[in-house]
Amino acid sequence: MGFDIRVVGGGLAGSEAALSLARLGVSVELWEMRPLRKTDIHETDRFGELVCSNSLGSEALRDARGLLKAELRLLGSAVVACADASRLPAGKAFAVDKNQFSRLVTQSIQSNPLISIRREEYRQLDSSVPTILATGPLTSPDLLVELRERLGRENLFFYDAVAPSIWAHSVDRESSFLSSRGGDAADYLNCPLTREEYYAFVHALQSARRHLPVSPNEQKYFEGCLPVEEIARRGDDALRFGPMRPIGLRERPDDCFAVIQLRKENREGTVLGLVGLQTSLAIAEQQRVLAMIPALRNVEFVRYGLIHRNAFVRGPSVLSQDLQLKSFERIWAAGQLCGVDGYMESTALGLVAALNSAATLRGFPRAVFSVHTMTGLLVDFVTRETDDFQPTNANYGLLPLEAGPKQKAVDREAFAFVALEQIRHIADEVEGWDTNKTAR
Ligand SMILES: Cc1cc2nc3c(=O)[nH]c(=O)nc-3n(C[C@H](O)[C@H](O)[C@H](O)COP(=O)(O)OP(=O)(O)OC[C@H]3O[C@@H](n4cnc5c(N)ncnc54)[C@H](O)[C@@H]3O)c2cc1C
Repeated sequence: MGFDIRVVGGGLAGSEAALSLARLGVSVELWEMRPLRKTDIHETDRFGELVCSNSLGSEALRDARGLLKAELRLLGSAVVACADASRLPAGKAFAVDKNQFSRLVTQSIQSNPLISIRREEYRQLDSSVPTILATGPLTSPDLLVELRERLGRENLFFYDAVAPSIWAHSVDRESSFLSSRGGDAADYLNCPLTREEYYAFVHALQSARRHLPVSPNEQKYFEGCLPVEEIARRGDDALRFGPMRPIGLRERPDDCFAVIQLRKENREGTVLGLVGLQTSLAIAEQQRVLAMIPALRNVEFVRYGLIHRNAFVRGPSVLSQDLQLKSFERIWAAGQLCGVDGYMESTALGLVAALNSAATLRGFPRAVFSVHTMTGLLVDFVTRETDDFQPTNANYGLLPLEAGPKQKAVDREAFAFVALEQIRHIADEVEGWDTNKTAR
């Protein structure tokens, strides 16, 4: 083996991991399947391609993503350095020239003598080679099949579904009522259905045309975020005991058999989201089926529900605290595959996987990120046992209860001050590693 570790995936996490490892003197074989195998979204064969927006979030330390970027800078993130060099004026937001950014990341990788590039699709876990898996939300189908077999079907999610948003003015107020299942009644507008209306709605959902990126056999949804038509398919009554249950509402019409709840999506209350009604139905079908609800007969959509590929593992079940796969020693996961969401979050978990794998391979003490840092909160989130695992971006609400006050009361400046102190300490520790030690 002419290298110390293999990194699979040259997106944000994989590029950060490869460049961080090289900085520590660890040689890397970086696998990237593009351009031989394309994803549905990437457009180039460059490393570090930003697949959508050019914003990396705020710069302010009060903002969780701002703090995360500051932590990454202190830790010497090569990806953030490329972002700094590609920055565009965009007010308080940190926006970059996407082309310049990915060109810089690509140049850094191509010119690094410790990184050898292999343009190939990785299909099978090979535990004889230390490996960082950073294949992201669009992990290739063959590798997904392999991960499902090796990690267990219940630990791998393939899709995320999003619920539609509608204009509040298009809801029929005569056919709806304000009430919540606890909390302020004014927070939810409820669209009731009678028994007949409910079953007609369910049957329409069961037969409606879906918009699916792949064949139904390949589908695997996150159970906590099932599309409404998928729930309907599991039984005529599943929805009325699930997201459309009418219980807990203090006031409701006598013939209310099931209910669809609408929740404000902006401060003004002009846009409402359909609670728990994420969907993968074709657009025309969303219009047709939702208009069967009396209160939504004239519904106007702000955004249609949609489904998108988002592969991620159930971190708490399959990852150790150092992001190693519990069932495969010396294979680490990194980036969005771990269950974080966002460019900077993925970069952060690429950097952490690099430090952890370097520590293991070289026998250094592992750098531990506490929950008093934003990076540590992300690591904690993807590895802490929970019933309801759903990908997250960086935010102050990740703070575990025992570690401090919850989001509203968090003194963000104080949190950031402590976080940056701790990260400086970790950066100093890593600086002191004797990177001339040979890999084991
Ligand atoms: C459609 C979409 C839009 C998004 N928009 C945003 C946004 O606007 N802002 C934001 O902050 N986040 C966004 N995200 C979320 C996420 O942060 C990014 O997708 C981010 O790029 C994830 O980083 P990553 O390194 O984990 O994965 P990626 O950046 O996707 O990198 C993974 C790499 O692995 C390669 N690969 C996959 N399978 C294999 C294989 N078997 N062998 C070899 N190589 C392989 C891929 O080609 C890719 O280059 C979006 C996600 C999606 C799916």
